Amino acid sequence: MLSSRQLFLNHVAQTSPFPLALEVHQAKGIYMYGSKNKKWIDVISGIGVSNVGHRHPKVVRAIQKQLRKYMHLMVYGEFIQTPQVQLATALSKTFKTTLGQDFLDENEKVDEINHANAVYFVNSGSEAIEGAIKLAKRFTGRTELIGCHNAYHGSTHAALSLGTSEQWKQPFLPLLPNVNHICFDSEACLSQITEKTAAVVIETVQGEAGIRVPQKEYLQALRKKCTETGTILICDEIQCGFGRTGKLWAFEHFDIIPDIVVAAKGMGGGMPIGAFMASQKMMSCLSDNPILGHISTFGGHPVSCVASLATLKVIQEENLLDNIQEKHDLFRKLLNPEKHKAIKEFRGIGLMLAVEFESFDFLQKVIAHCLELGLLSDWFLYCDNSMRIAPPLIITKKEIKKACKIILEAIELTEKENS
Ligand code: PMP
Repeated sequence: MLSSRQLFLNHVAQTSPFPLALEVHQAKGIYMYGSKNKKWIDVISGIGVSNVGHRHPKVVRAIQKQLRKYMHLMVYGEFIQTPQVQLATALSKTFKTTLGQDFLDENEKVDEINHANAVYFVNSGSEAIEGAIKLAKRFTGRTELIGCHNAYHGSTHAALSLGTSEQWKQPFLPLLPNVNHICFDSEACLSQITEKTAAVVIETVQGEAGIRVPQKEYLQALRKKCTETGTILICDEIQCGFGRTGKLWAFEHFDIIPDIVVAAKGMGGGMPIGAFMASQKMMSCLSDNPILGHISTFGGHPVSCVASLATLKVIQEENLLDNIQEKHDLFRKLLNPEKHKAIKEFRGIGLMLAVEFESFDFLQKVIAHCLELGLLSDWFLYCDNSMRIAPPLIITKKEIKKACKIILEAIELTEKENS
């Protein structure tokens, strides 16, 4: 009989010639478990997904309860489904005001309590980006889009168009026309945004570029430029959102309010879901001319919605974000260039971190040793000399010390091997 590994290689479509092929039998909290008592600390949370940990009991309970009622009923947007309604209401209230202030008339600028936001549910990050840029084009009547250098917004054609990596784009040309790119975190490039620009799409904190936190002044200048030109500012919070940076939304660190917010990944607490969010006024144009201009069969799946609402409640009601800065400081204290000369830089915000080494080769060996020692990490799509550290937000200080000890031991082993 063929092994599970062989069947995986034969029949599950592969994304690279060297898959990790780790066989996990169970996952709980910050841990993943394999056969023969193998146990790994997951410091990447399934790439920014398991923010409240694997199988959080409240998320699991919410799913079980929903399973007793109904699963899929009807294409998104047709039926009143309580899980969607409750989640959309809760998400709308996470914004301190109505999104897209520049596009509201004076009488529509409702107060903080009665803000009028709307949530469009989809299934993934890329799909949410697609919906957001369609909404921006439809609302402004403009066609030009602007993305950032080194951005990652997903693997679909439109999402790929917004990034600049030739390696990933070239084989799939032609992509979307009329897309330009500006430097991330550089005010000099903002002059490219004009009255012709429908939207600027930006990761509030760049993820796959290796965790790049922009200057507050930059994001504020970008916000101002968008306001001046009537351009929609779309913040991709797919990786940096849902608490990852220590605030529910990363843009809260920078005192800006986007016009459209895009979320996925951590939003589902381990279930697939994505969303783009805007003012009711902006969103309403998707229901008209053409009607059904954007639809999704599984968008806002009720089981995913209850998981997402439970996740949001865990973050809010258990004050999960209160000590993220302390946890950040502990990682920074334990993994920095002074702690070990092989570490070239420690970057990040909240628990969205990167530890840089001299090369991909060195990092690969460190990651392999980490796996042997019981910790799963990774590198970034566009930054292969930096280690990804984005553990579940529930990680304790004791567990952080344990994780850092493993990483430092793996660095030592790599140094010895290389000497
Ligand atoms: N935007 C960002 C910032 C991401 O990190 C990702 C996924 N890594 C995506 C979009 C795409 O999300 P998905 O894989 O769910 O399509």
